Amino acid sequence: MNKTIFQKIIDREIPAKIAHEDEHCIAILDINPQAPVHVLVIPKQPIARVTEADASDQPVLGHLLLSAAAVAKKLGLGQSGFRLVINNGRDGGETVPHLHVHVLGGRPLGWPPG
Ligand code: 5GP
Repeated sequence: MNKTIFQKIIDREIPAKIAHEDEHCIAILDINPQAPVHVLVIPKQPIARVTEADASDQPVLGHLLLSAAAVAKKLGLGQSGFRLVINNGRDGGETVPHLHVHVLGGRPLGWPPG
C-alpha cells in the first residue's frame, strides 16, 4: 500500500515542522495554514479516518483529542480559544486518508464553516 504524506512525515522521509511528538502521535504545522495557528495532530497508528476506527482504537482516539488540546495550550490558545476539526470523507473535505485533527486558532473563526 502506498504511504500517505503523513506516514512519510512520521517515518522522517519528508520534512515537517514538528510542534509535538510522543509515542502515539505527532503534531506538525500545516503546510497551507488557514489561521495564524494551524497544526495537524496525527496518530502514528495509520487509521484512515474516524469512520474506519473501531473500539480497539479508543485509547488512540482519546490520546489524540487530549494531545490536540495540549498542543493548543502549548501554542498559546488556551485563553483565546481554538477550533478542532476532523474532515471525514469527500464532503467533509478530507484530502489525506490518515486520520488527523486540525487545531486552528489565533483569530476569530466564523461559524458555520463554508
Ligand atoms: P484534510 O483536508 O485531509 O483534512 O487535511 C489535510 C491537510 O494536510 C491540509 O490542511 C493540507 O494543507 C495539509 N498538508 C498536505 N500536505 C502536507 C505536507 O506535505 N506537509 C504538511 N505539513 N501539511 C500538509
